[in-house]
Amino acid sequence: MKSYFIQTFGCAMNQADSEKIHMILLQSGLMKAKDISTADLVVFNTCSVRQKGEDRVFGFMREVSDQAKYNNRPKPVIGITGCMVRKTGMNQSYLSTDTERKRAKKIELLETKDGIFNADDKLFPRSPLIDFVLRIEEVKYIPLILSHITGTSIGKEHSFDDYLKVKQHWESKASAPIIIQTGCDNYCSFCIVPYTRGKEISRPHDEIIREVEEVARSGIKEITLVGQNVNSYGKQFVEKKLWNTEKSSWNEWIGESPFRKLLNDIDGINGIERIRFTSSNPHDMTQDILDAHFDLQHTCPYLHFALQSGSNEMLKRMNRKHTYEDFKRQVDYLRSKDPLFSISTDIIVGFSGETEAMFQDTLRAFRECEFDFAFNARYSVRKGTLAEKMYPDDIPDSVKAERWHILNDTLLENITKRNQMMIGREEEVLISGKKDESFYGRTRNFKEVFFEAPEDLQEGDAVHVQITELDRYVLRGKFISKR
Ligand code: SF4
Repeated sequence: MKSYFIQTFGCAMNQADSEKIHMILLQSGLMKAKDISTADLVVFNTCSVRQKGEDRVFGFMREVSDQAKYNNRPKPVIGITGCMVRKTGMNQSYLSTDTERKRAKKIELLETKDGIFNADDKLFPRSPLIDFVLRIEEVKYIPLILSHITGTSIGKEHSFDDYLKVKQHWESKASAPIIIQTGCDNYCSFCIVPYTRGKEISRPHDEIIREVEEVARSGIKEITLVGQNVNSYGKQFVEKKLWNTEKSSWNEWIGESPFRKLLNDIDGINGIERIRFTSSNPHDMTQDILDAHFDLQHTCPYLHFALQSGSNEMLKRMNRKHTYEDFKRQVDYLRSKDPLFSISTDIIVGFSGETEAMFQDTLRAFRECEFDFAFNARYSVRKGTLAEKMYPDDIPDSVKAERWHILNDTLLENITKRNQMMIGREEEVLISGKKDESFYGRTRNFKEVFFEAPEDLQEGDAVHVQITELDRYVLRGKFISKR
């Protein structure tokens, strides 16, 4: 086994997790394949927010395998990790004989007592093409699993740290995601994350600071702090009574929250010019975190936090701990300080019991909050969630589709209106790539801008650009100078 390819689906957390897998595979002596079709190992880092996302993974798997057949190559080893996986394990075929079983070493630390011998993750019966599945929290065992599958020693099996400590291989020269927290204690009724990732755990403050210093030394100017609930970062480090999760805790925090302290310290690191974080939870938001956007020098005027529904009744059913009013107060505060402050969110339409009136509440929220972007999902049942056990999936697909289209049309109106506000402005753009003749990158408020410029510019350069036009939904600009 020489080369690997990682196909990532889903959110920033998964992107950052894939960077951890990259690092382990590179350190185990494998090389990154240029193309999925030439790889000996393909890892799918999956998202299970929607059924469609899961279906795509199986589609990709079939394609990869068919292509190998067509090219007369052996089928690559296929592994699945991320949110679709509940138990680390290998395909039965690797465990069929006693000799095989003896050769495979038992991983004592895995939660399941059978260690990697287990082949009972529910994904295996869904496709014979899967060679192994891996809980992302157990990523350090990937060389051990590969060694067993290939029958040769791959990497040093026990030389890797636990999940939160595993270093990432920063793929981009412009921006590095840094995982600061994983897991979730919120149990929103539709969501599988608390079951796949377990309880919320934060990385130690000093360890994160050291990693950000390393990013700065490598010349990368932007970092994104990533976790399921970044704004409750460090809640395990403070007295329980201080973290009031029973009711909306926004602006009830007295003193400096652990996440704000982290932001303060990162702000002082030489070379880091942009600080972003995702994803935040409205009910864990504190005043000092909102203020960090304006008080600190390098935090960017952009926030992603999930509303999910504009109806308070629906939010209760979803087991969310905030109301629409909580959320809206935060939006109003941020935009009152900076009208160009960008806000994006996540919404689910067609959740169990969603009436037309509830949907209209969501639509009203969309109009009132004027999101710069939103990830709108049609509800699909995720196995093992509270919603699967408690609520019927009773909204017809046609109604879900209709509501989803209405919401998307409103979103496009919002995007157009918000992007128009950028026209005529001179903005700093951090270049993240080049497509055809145009460079592209993001402004501090996370707007993507395309522009033409001299050839010697590169990914990671900061430049000044005059925003000149809105081409449908895309901002275009004129290059002014390199910073
Ligand atoms: S806050 Fe809710 S939606 Fe977000 S990861 Fe936790 S359970 Fe899932």
